[in-house]
Amino acid sequence: MNSLTNRKKVLASKQMNFWERIYLPAIINGLSITMKHFFKKRTTVYYPEEKRSFSENFRGLHSLKRDENGAERCTACGLCALSCPAEAITMTAAERKPGEELLYREEKYASVYEINMLRCIFCGFCEEACPKAAIFLDGDIAKAGYIRDEFIFGKDKLTEPVIK
Ligand code: SF4
Ligand code: SF4
Repeated sequence: MNSLTNRKKVLASKQMNFWERIYLPAIINGLSITMKHFFKKRTTVYYPEEKRSFSENFRGLHSLKRDENGAERCTACGLCALSCPAEAITMTAAERKPGEELLYREEKYASVYEINMLRCIFCGFCEEACPKAAIFLDGDIAKAGYIRDEFIFGKDKLTEPVIK
């Protein structure tokens, strides 16, 4: 016979006192714990309706920046892709044509620029590597989704809108 069986036998033979038999102290004790939590400050955040504040160091989704004239700053130099440990960035470079000076800041620009957000670890290396201050992780948090293709962010999602 092991010690656990012995212990069970002792507990089974233990007589309950008056207060234990009426359960009232146990009920009051349970209710007091419930009331204590009822009036405590709520820690649940009902996202996405509610948003909690983030640290100043928070890194959100990437945005490709424009200069003061609204032209895209990115020159498709590829340094961000080279510094990305997750190999999440791909791009195609193109040459600016005459008349496109207002669209692209320099002779070379990224005709395709994509970030695979499923691979990205939000390390910020791309932001640090960029010599043109063209990419920042200053956006919102990454949204949830069901389709993998939704997480390939192209220029349509990454480039900041033109301010008029
Ligand atoms: S934040 Fe890091 S992992 Fe994400 S794209 Fe930039 S360099 Fe790559
Ligand atoms: S975002 Fe910056 S580092 Fe990346 S290709 Fe464009 S200019 Fe180069």
